[in-house]
This record gives sequence, structure tokens and C-alpha cells, in this order.
Amino acid sequence: MKFDILTVFPEYFDVLKHSLIGKAIGDGVFDVQVTNIRDFTLDKHKKTDDTPYGGGAGMLMTPDPIARSIEHVDPNHEAWRIYMSPRGARLNQQKVESLASCQRILILCGDYEGIDQRVIDMFIDEELSIGDYVLTGGELPALVTVNAVARYIDGVLGSNASTEEESFSNGLLEYPQYTRPEVYRGVSVPKVLLDGNHKDIANWRLEKSLEITMKNRPDLLVDAPIDQYLPKKKRKHKK
Ligand code: SAM
Repeated sequence: MKFDILTVFPEYFDVLKHSLIGKAIGDGVFDVQVTNIRDFTLDKHKKTDDTPYGGGAGMLMTPDPIARSIEHVDPNHEAWRIYMSPRGARLNQQKVESLASCQRILILCGDYEGIDQRVIDMFIDEELSIGDYVLTGGELPALVTVNAVARYIDGVLGSNASTEEESFSNGLLEYPQYTRPEVYRGVSVPKVLLDGNHKDIANWRLEKSLEITMKNRPDLLVDAPIDQYLPKKKRKHKK
């Protein structure tokens, strides 16, 4: 899988050198190419922004350097092209998993007050937001997207189980987790986790997941597959 990132601030993406993501890129598990939109401006001052028509605060990114950089990086429109934008559809786990099946993803980062609508209409497949707040640029949202999607690429995480029992994977938030020591500053790990009864542990975790989801994100329960969590009815045997 390959990500192409288009930005006027390529330095932001230096963080991709670190952690599991950096290791996976280093090992060739997936690829990230960062392209500086400024390299595609024909303006002698390398300008990539201008004032908005109709007035209003701030500057907008001009269409030509963006268009030319997209055409350079993805001339045959082989990549799924995303523009990070607060007015896009909200990125969620379902979306992340579906993006992980793409062979190529191009992510366009806006800056200043955003970009000229014509490049969105001409080149972009989808606008994605990372939440209902406005950041100064699309670089952090692009990093969030790459990180979240990369976790679903085979070989990035140590074991597949790492994504299977996490928050959102079953429609709920994750249960509390504990590791050694068994007692920390006088607080013990819940006894059920020490007893080794897998059924009791699974029931306890489900109960805690439901409790935490109800408290922090009751909205998730609307779509959660509740039937799946209820005990299966025993079939009655006819005599
Ligand atoms: N004027 C725009 C608006 O009101 O929707 C906001 C522009 S914002 C200051 C600059 C850039 O940051 C955007 O073009 C976008 O690429 C990025 N950005 C800001 N917040 C974002 C979010 N929540 N999700 C995704 N991208 C975001």
C-alpha cells in the first residue's frame, strides 16, 4: 500500500520515522511519499495562496500548484484521493478499515483558510474530517489518517489480535486493562482477571465495555450489535 501526501509543510511528516509506523515503513511494509505543493508553483516567489474572492478573512490556497502536484503524483487517477477538511465526513473506525483495503491513497492537506473549491471538484474523491473542530492545517489530520489506516495493514502491528479487541472493533469502547504488579499503591487488579476463568473474564470485560460506552459515548450504543452480546437462548429439546 502507498500513501501520497500533498502539503506545503512537508516537515510535519518527519514523525513518520518513529515508532511502529516508522519501523513498518523502514521494513517496506507500506510506503509514504510526501510531496511539497510549493515545488509545483510557477510563481517566481513560490506563492501558493491568495485572498478569497468575495472577501473574508485569511488566505486561500490557489488551485494551480495543487492541480499540478496531483497530476504529477497520480497522473492516471489510480489513488483514492482524500482532502482533509473540517466539513468532510467524519473519519471513524469503519472508514479506517475500508481505507485499509485501498492500494493507493492520496491525501491533500489544506492550509491557511483552505483551498479553492475548483480543485476539490476536479480532483478529489472524498473529503474527510477528524472531528468537529478546526485545526490550522490538514497535516495533523493526514497523520492521524495514515496512522489509523496503517494499523490495519498486515505486518504493521505485532499480532492481528491487536486490532480485534479494541475500542470500536465490536461497536463498544474497550474494557479496562491491567498489567503487573498485581497490587499498585494499594490498588489490586480485579480478582476476576486473576482467576483464569475465561468465561467470567469475557463476561466481566463485556460488562465494563458496556458501562464505559454508556458513560462516555452513549451514541455508539444506537448502532452497536447488542444482540451479539446477549447470552444465547438455550434451545428447548422436545421430549
Ligand atoms: N475555512 C475552513 C472551514 O471553515 O471549514 C477551515 C480551514 S482550516 C483553518 C485549514 C485546513 O486545515 C483545512 O483546509 C483542512 O485541510 C485542515 N483541517 C482543519 N481542521 C480539520 C479537521 N477537523 N479535519 C480535517 N482537516 C482539517
